[in-house]
Amino acid sequence: MILYNSLGGVRQEFVPHEAGKVKMYTCGPTVYHYAHIGNLRTYIMEDVLEKYLRYSGYDVLRVMNITDVGHLSSDADTGEDKMLAGAKREHKSVMDIAKFYTDAFFADAAKLNIKTPDVVEPATNCIPEFIEMVKTLIDKGYAYFAGGNVYFDTSKLDNYFVFGNMNEEELQVGVREDVTEDQNKRSKNDFVLWFTQSKFEDQALKWESPWGLGYPGWHIECSAISIKHAGEYLDIHCGGVDNAFPHHTNEIAQSEAYLGHQWCPYWFHVLHLLDKRGKMSKSKGGFLTVSLLEEKGYDPLTYRFFCLQSHYRKPLVFTFENLDNTVQAYNKLVARIAKLSADGASSGAPDLKAAKPYQDKFKAALDNDLNTSLAITALYDVLKGNIDDVTKRYLVADFDRVLSLGLIEAADAEIKKAAAAEAEKAALQEKYLTENGLAKAWVEEQIAARATAKAEKNWAEADRIRDALLEHGIVIKDSKNGASWEIKQS
Ligand code: AMP
Ligand code: ZN
Repeated sequence: MILYNSLGGVRQEFVPHEAGKVKMYTCGPTVYHYAHIGNLRTYIMEDVLEKYLRYSGYDVLRVMNITDVGHLSSDADTGEDKMLAGAKREHKSVMDIAKFYTDAFFADAAKLNIKTPDVVEPATNCIPEFIEMVKTLIDKGYAYFAGGNVYFDTSKLDNYFVFGNMNEEELQVGVREDVTEDQNKRSKNDFVLWFTQSKFEDQALKWESPWGLGYPGWHIECSAISIKHAGEYLDIHCGGVDNAFPHHTNEIAQSEAYLGHQWCPYWFHVLHLLDKRGKMSKSKGGFLTVSLLEEKGYDPLTYRFFCLQSHYRKPLVFTFENLDNTVQAYNKLVARIAKLSADGASSGAPDLKAAKPYQDKFKAALDNDLNTSLAITALYDVLKGNIDDVTKRYLVADFDRVLSLGLIEAADAEIKKAAAAEAEKAALQEKYLTENGLAKAWVEEQIAARATAKAEKNWAEADRIRDALLEHGIVIKDSKNGASWEIKQS
């Protein structure tokens, strides 16, 4: 598989550290508010990456943190703790806020068919691991204690700006306006590993440490949680592009200083979801959530489809007009799939040999830096293809292991709905015949006789039968599948 690697800024063949196994880390949500659909774009694309790696035969271990402490309103160690701000806003405790928004995050993720990572670890579970890592960094000479806090000393590194290849537009988003100088820092890019001094006295969560009562910096949590669960060699680290600097840059600095070797060779960054005002962000407010989409009548999976139609490395502009177009496309797609089984081809074995070229095309699309829109084209090719319906349905289900658009489920629901409507119609007709003293067999005989007359070009007889049935309130309907009847509407 070829992936664009932000580290180095080139498309590269993906080769994991250990053959057949992939260790993947995802920066989890900061749980002080609902995730917006921009955050969820990132998680959707990471989910596709994970599922495609599994589809390709890798044994994947995916780890994600939950940021429930230490993420300040500026990513550069200034401002208020986001969790504390959330707690104040809602007059609740920090832990209540964390629980509520963690549950909300996973509920939204489930609606988007995002698989829960194998390991999910809240930062507050790992305080001993953070302390151990900070201690080692001090012992190795990479960190210093100043003004009550522990800082990482970036001057100790030969190359701190590891994502220097990223273009300005990509890096700018990580830089916040409200950065005030911290006089304790030896150099501007140094960052906090452990806080004991902060400008907000009312920080709710504090722990004993060798440096006094305090709490961890945001960056240390991802390094420590990743190393705890995925070991010293991580294969892919993911996140939204705003995380590249300073968050991921700092994660790399401290992890490699701690480990003494390269930590993670592949970095996967998803570009932002934009709205009219630019990057969708929690701090700006007025953002869109999955619940809001549902309130407006949208199936969350249509938002997933919307995301998959464009490449993860391009900014994506959200408008309701664009989403409406996606809904139409999704409904048409489902109707076409429902038609496959409705044609009576839902049993029997798929033709695996005939399926192979379609799977190859699907794989080629995703092997090409996760080109999901081309993978969707491969799905349409299946529906247009010159293969039997069983094989088509098999391929749709196969591709949906990665795309996770709920296509088979939606098509089956459609088939069930149509069958229920059919059964209701039949019951009404039955009732009508009984009430009017007519036998079903007689009606069927008349319809068959009319078909014979038509076949013999005996139009007069065909019309006579049609009119006789009409006298009884029975209307013949012709279709390409033969004739059926309906009750005459008065
Ligand atoms: P947060 O909960 O703020 O820590 O963010 C969770 C994830 O969403 C991170 O990987 C961010 O980089 C990502 N993210 C934030 N805003 C956007 C956006 N507008 N579009 C796509 N991803 C985003
Ligand atoms: Zn992180």
